[in-house]
Amino acid sequence: MSTTKTSTTEQDTPQDEKVTCRKCGHTYTPNFIFDFYPDGKDPKVGLCERCMVSEALAPKPIGSPHVEKVCKPFQGATTCAFLVMGAGQGNEAVYQCVKGTNTEQLIRQRLAKNTIRAHGDNCLGPPTFAPNP
Ligand SMILES: [Zn+2]
Repeated sequence: MSTTKTSTTEQDTPQDEKVTCRKCGHTYTPNFIFDFYPDGKDPKVGLCERCMVSEALAPKPIGSPHVEKVCKPFQGATTCAFLVMGAGQGNEAVYQCVKGTNTEQLIRQRLAKNTIRAHGDNCLGPPTFAPNP
């Protein structure tokens, strides 16, 4: 009676699985701490978790007709409190909505304390920007 000894195949973690975040340029091997989110045909092209989260939490630019009709800039109390001016891609000033960002809570606190001039809560914010009734 003979026993066949099965050799255990040792799976070395490949050292060439590095990916580069297309936003911050950070190169690393994805693991359970640093996640990587491929967003193209090449699975090595995408965003790291930090950039993914910061992009998701960034104020969202608002399209022009919506700003005038719903956000109502420079109209005192009817102006949406969540409307801010931010920097666009070319660093130009653009209207942005802070709903869904950390700033939203700050604005809500200021609204509650009445320490903000704009009092509007004019739409649902991103991604739909559906006007509030
Ligand atoms: Zn990154």
